[in-house]
Amino acid sequence: MPADVTAFAAQPLCPLPPDKLRAAIELGHWRAGLIFGGTAWLVLTLWLLVRLRAGAAIARLAAGVSSRAGVQGLVAIPIWILILSALELPASILGHHVGLHYGLSVEKWPAWWVDWLESTGLTLVLGVAVLGSLYGLIRWSPRRWWLWFWAFTLPVEVLLTFAAPLVIDPLFNHFTPLAQTDPALVDQLERVAARGGLEIPRNRIFLMDASRRATGANAYVTGLGASKRIVVWDTTLKIESPQEILFTYGHEQGHYVLHHIPKGIAFSAVVFFVFYWIAFRVSGWLVRTRGERWGIESAGCWSSLGLALLLAVVLNFLAQPIANTFSRAVEHQADVYGEEVIHGLVPDAQAATVSSFCSDAVVWLDDPQPNRFVEFWTYSHPSTEERAQFAAHYDPWLAGEHPRYVQSPGGL
Ligand SMILES: [Zn+2]
Repeated sequence: MPADVTAFAAQPLCPLPPDKLRAAIELGHWRAGLIFGGTAWLVLTLWLLVRLRAGAAIARLAAGVSSRAGVQGLVAIPIWILILSALELPASILGHHVGLHYGLSVEKWPAWWVDWLESTGLTLVLGVAVLGSLYGLIRWSPRRWWLWFWAFTLPVEVLLTFAAPLVIDPLFNHFTPLAQTDPALVDQLERVAARGGLEIPRNRIFLMDASRRATGANAYVTGLGASKRIVVWDTTLKIESPQEILFTYGHEQGHYVLHHIPKGIAFSAVVFFVFYWIAFRVSGWLVRTRGERWGIESAGCWSSLGLALLLAVVLNFLAQPIANTFSRAVEHQADVYGEEVIHGLVPDAQAATVSSFCSDAVVWLDDPQPNRFVEFWTYSHPSTEERAQFAAHYDPWLAGEHPRYVQSPGGL
């Protein structure tokens, strides 16, 4: 009966037990509140600081230390980065409290503070380098700095993507080649790689000690060229069944094979180009019309740092839906690839894919029906239920159909 079919399709594929469902919906509200509320708080407080002429006061303090612009920057930039970190702290603390409350995090507060100090230190180093370069360019070319800064950002982004798994990630986690801890699993994964016509060296698959902090399962692809690798969270091995792990890995292999990291860099280059130009126009207009009132002589003076951070927060927030729409599209491609690549290696690729999503939905407490606007703005992946629904109905192995990325071997 058609009516029954409709009713069946409306049922969630990954139904949560009532207590988990309630928690998932609450958690969805917390997440959205922290993102939107946290941004509103930052914008409001930074704007107040700009209006209260904090930029001019900090620039005067820096000028008291040295008459050289470079040294003044080494004083003013860290002060502003620490102010921004302090303003972000309430949302970060609340976020960790929520994670602990709902059982997504197991990290004790002292360890969390150590992480916070480390990441703030890293932000200070990178912030001084990036903002120092930006201001150097603004002074050197007041009308074209946005273009030069764009040209500067691209190699930096490539370098950071290359260096992140080698230099930055090991500051926060421990990575061991999966072949050392679970060679049998690597054998299984190599079958998936071979099925996709790919040779991923065994030493490019890493296990990360995520269980120090988190309870949920995850895996990701990172790095570029010689540093490119697939990382599997150790929690995944506890939560997912062997077949589900094959899908999770297959999805990551999809990112690898479909070159999603270089495509992401190319996409962000286009977005940066537009947003830097907007920043140039808006900052120029604000300094012209409000500069005197806010104690900002020009865009290239250290007194404009607070305004620059305010603009960065606003533009970053406005870029989120653009970045996330791109991300959801490539995540969907990786889902399709993952489902195709395990076909023939597991008895039922559709069932393994759906159950992988459902396992994740329970441990991550994914809201099965997120608010569409919140999903559009903040979700880097399609909602888990949407991914499961697609996987359950994706069947390119029917007669006359063709898989999109991985051709079926003979007889399958
Ligand atoms: Zn992915």
